Amino acid sequence: MDAVVRVWALPDVDTQHDAIPPADDTAKEWEGSTACGIVGMLRWVHGETVDRAKTCAACVGAVGTAPPLEGDDLGPV
Ligand SMILES: [Zn+2]
Repeated sequence: MDAVVRVWALPDVDTQHDAIPPADDTAKEWEGSTACGIVGMLRWVHGETVDRAKTCAACVGAVGTAPPLEGDDLGPV
């Protein structure tokens, strides 16, 4: 099961959002929507760049502060 990934909602590369990863997981940018409902071009934020302090508050509320545990049932996708 895929966890959410951290993304920037372009052109804002300050606030980091959570989003469902792209179908092509080699894509660095893709058209999609964030957990807080922004639709547009998303850019993958890689591990070393992820900054919890810059996490979008609305996304934290939508997804929760802890990553989904393996085995959690997120329902049909
Ligand atoms: Zn957000």
